[in-house]
Amino acid sequence: MAAATLTEFRNEPYADFSQPDNRRAMEIALQQVHSEFAREYQLRLGGEYIATGDKLASVNPSSPHEIVGVHHRATPELAGRAVEAAWRYFGEWSRVPAGERIRMTFEAARILRRRKFEFDAWLVYEAGKTWPEAEADVSEAIDFCEYYAREMQRLAGPQPVVQLPGEHGEMFYIPLGVGVVIPPWNFPLAILAGMTVAALVTGNTVVLKPSSETPTIAAKFAEVLLEAGFPEGSFSLLTGSGAAVGDVLVAHPKTRFISFTGSRDVGLHINQLAAKTQPGQIWIKRVIAEMGGKDAIVVDSDADLDKAVDGVLASAFGYQGQKCSACSRAIVDAKVYDTFLEKLAAKVRNIRVGPADDPANYMGPVISQSARKTIESYIAVGQKEGRVVVGGQPVEGDGYFIPPTMIADVDARARVFQEEIFGPVLAVARARDFAHALELANDTEYGLTGAVFSNNPEHLREATERFHVGNLYLNRKCTGAMVGAHPFGGFNMSGTDSKAGGPDYLLLFLQAKSVAQRG
Ligand code: NAD
Repeated sequence: MAAATLTEFRNEPYADFSQPDNRRAMEIALQQVHSEFAREYQLRLGGEYIATGDKLASVNPSSPHEIVGVHHRATPELAGRAVEAAWRYFGEWSRVPAGERIRMTFEAARILRRRKFEFDAWLVYEAGKTWPEAEADVSEAIDFCEYYAREMQRLAGPQPVVQLPGEHGEMFYIPLGVGVVIPPWNFPLAILAGMTVAALVTGNTVVLKPSSETPTIAAKFAEVLLEAGFPEGSFSLLTGSGAAVGDVLVAHPKTRFISFTGSRDVGLHINQLAAKTQPGQIWIKRVIAEMGGKDAIVVDSDADLDKAVDGVLASAFGYQGQKCSACSRAIVDAKVYDTFLEKLAAKVRNIRVGPADDPANYMGPVISQSARKTIESYIAVGQKEGRVVVGGQPVEGDGYFIPPTMIADVDARARVFQEEIFGPVLAVARARDFAHALELANDTEYGLTGAVFSNNPEHLREATERFHVGNLYLNRKCTGAMVGAHPFGGFNMSGTDSKAGGPDYLLLFLQAKSVAQRG
C-alpha cells in the first residue's frame, strides 16, 4: 500500500447509547452473545487446534454462576512447542512485505468495527464493563490497529542516513523474532490487540497468552486476526494460567522478546527471568513491560471544585477503579479539603452499582472473587488508616460487587496511599499547600498517570516540570488516554518507559540494520 493512499489517523468515534438505534443494537448483541455462553474453545498452536482436557471456565462477574466460555489450559510442554512453532514460521513471516502486513492490520480494524457491538457485549459479560467502558475498550482496539498500521508504513522504508563520498548507505528496520505477548484482563481487547498487532505488523511471530480471567475475548480476537488474513503460523493462542506456562514462554531460548502488561510483581519476575541467558540462547531478550500505578489527582486551592469532583469521580470509579490509570489518591489543598470532600462524597453516594449489562448502572462488578477479597481487605486496612466517608454498604445481587469507597484523612505512609489496590477505593489526603501536594503525589514507587486541577498557571507549569508521571493531565481526569493523542506508559515501577499508541512504540518490536556499499 502506498503511503499516499493512507488517510490521516483519527480516533474511532464512540457509539452514543442515548441513541435508540445504538441501544437496540447493543441489546441485540447482548442477547446474541448470551446465547453463545458456555461454548468450548480450543487452544491454537500455529494452525493446530488442541484440547488438553484440563478445562478453565470464565464466568460473568456480574452473575458468576453464568459460564461465559470454556477453555483448555495449556501445558508447559505445549508452551515450549508454541515457541518452537513460532520460531519455525518466523523466517517466512518476516519476509512477507510490510505492505501485506499493514493491509491485514487495517483489515483487522475493519472487522472489529463491523463486530463492534458484539465485542462490546463480550466485554460486558466477561470483563464486567459497563456499556460505555466496553465501547471505549473496543474503540481503542480499533485505534491501535489503525495507528500501528500507519506507523509501520512510516517505518517500512529506508530511513535517512548520512551519505559518505564513494559509498551508498542505508538503514532499515527488521523484526526481532518470536515475541511472547502477555496482556492483563482489564483491557482484555484493547491491550491484547494493541500488543499483538504491534508485534505482528512489524514482522514478528507471536505466542499470545491472554489472562485466564478473559480468555473468550482473546479467542474472539484470534478469529479476527485469521479473518483479516494473518497466517495461522504467525501467532498461537495459549489460554491457561500465567504461572503454569509463563515461565516456560519467557525462559525459552528461542523467545526474542516479551511484551507484558500487568502487575508490578509479575512484570519484575518476567524481567528477571528474561535476563537469565539460557543454554542455546544467542541474544539478549528484550522486555517491554507496562505495569501498575498508584495514580494521584492534585486539587489546588483555586481549582474549579465541581470540575475536580467530576474528574476524580470518573477516574476513581470508572470501571470500578480497575484501570492502571485510575485515580486512587486525591491530594487536596487544605483550604478546600472539606468542601471538596463533601461535594465528592455527595456524588459518590449516588453512584449506582449493579450488573454491567444494565445500562442504568455506573459501576459493575470487580473481576473475580479473589479480587473482591483483596479489595475488601484493603478497605479493612483503610478503616484503620483513615476515615471511611463513603462505602461499606452491601450491594444486591450475587455478582462481585463492591460499593465505591472513599477513605479520607490518610497520611502518606498509609498502605492505602502507597499500594495499588485495583478496585473502587479512593484515598484522600490533605496537603498544606501546592508544593506539599506535589511532594505527596510523587511519594510513590509508581509513575503512571496523574492530574492536577488548578487555575494557577505557575502551579500548572510546576506540575508539568515536577510531577513525575508518564501521562500528566491538567484540569481533566487522569483516565481515558486516546491512541495517538496521549501516548501511554509510565515511569519507575510502572514499566519500562514505553509509550503504547505513540510514535516510539513500534521501534520496540524492531531492530535497525545498517548497510554500506562501496563500488
Ligand atoms: P497480572 O500481573 O496478575 O497478570 C498479567 C498477565 O500476566 C496475565 O495474562 C497473567 O496470566 C500473566 N502472568 C501471571 N503470572 C505470570 C508468570 N509467572 N509469567 C508470565 N505471565 C504471567 O495482572 P492483571 O491482574 O491481569 O492486571 C492488572 C494489573 O495490570 C494492574 O497492576 C494494572 O495496573 C496493570 N496494568 C497496567 C497497564 C499499563 O499500561 N501500565 C495497563 C493495564 C493494566
